[in-house]
Amino acid sequence: MQLVFASNNAHKLQEVRAILPECDILSLEDIGCHADIPETAETLEGNSLLKAQYVWDHYHLDCFADDTGLEIEALGNLPGVRTARWAGEPANPANNRKKALAELAGQTNRKARFRTVVTLIRDGKPQQVEGIVSGSIATAEYGNGGFGYDPLFIPEGYDRTFAELPAELKNTISHRARAMQALKQIL
Ligand code: IMP
Repeated sequence: MQLVFASNNAHKLQEVRAILPECDILSLEDIGCHADIPETAETLEGNSLLKAQYVWDHYHLDCFADDTGLEIEALGNLPGVRTARWAGEPANPANNRKKALAELAGQTNRKARFRTVVTLIRDGKPQQVEGIVSGSIATAEYGNGGFGYDPLFIPEGYDRTFAELPAELKNTISHRARAMQALKQIL
């Protein structure tokens, strides 16, 4: 089965292809889409639908899109839909991590979760699934693997960050992995 994943993020494409080996996953670049798809919605659900709908409307190809937010309990679930650009434009992962550490300075409740919403559009019909991994924000950065907030995020049941844990493990327990497993169920 061929599906367009509305992304050009190499890390994500690699993760998604590992989780759905039976699918032929095409990136936006693979279909010649170089647009900067607007992500103007106020929710993860809205943004993931905008991205998938863009691909369907312009290319008429079965597709899916994801949108992920880091939800920090002590901050009222911020940064949420603003996760990528929390420290300002353009998106800067190192500054985002610094901001997370600064916002949580002296805070004992460091509970957080990553939540991914995936919108699948097949034959023009959208369906949504989500994946969540709960955990906590470390007090400093640890590890060199992964991307984004990985050096700060310690998944529940582990004592190391996603950036320290093996990629294969992250690929089985992450928010995106869980959302992709849910996607697999409905395919
Ligand atoms: P997106 O909606 O998937 O692009 O994710 C929004 C932002 O969340 C990204 O820019 C990253 O900062 C962060 N993020 C998403 N997935 C991960 C992950 O697996 N590890 C760490 N950070 C992530």
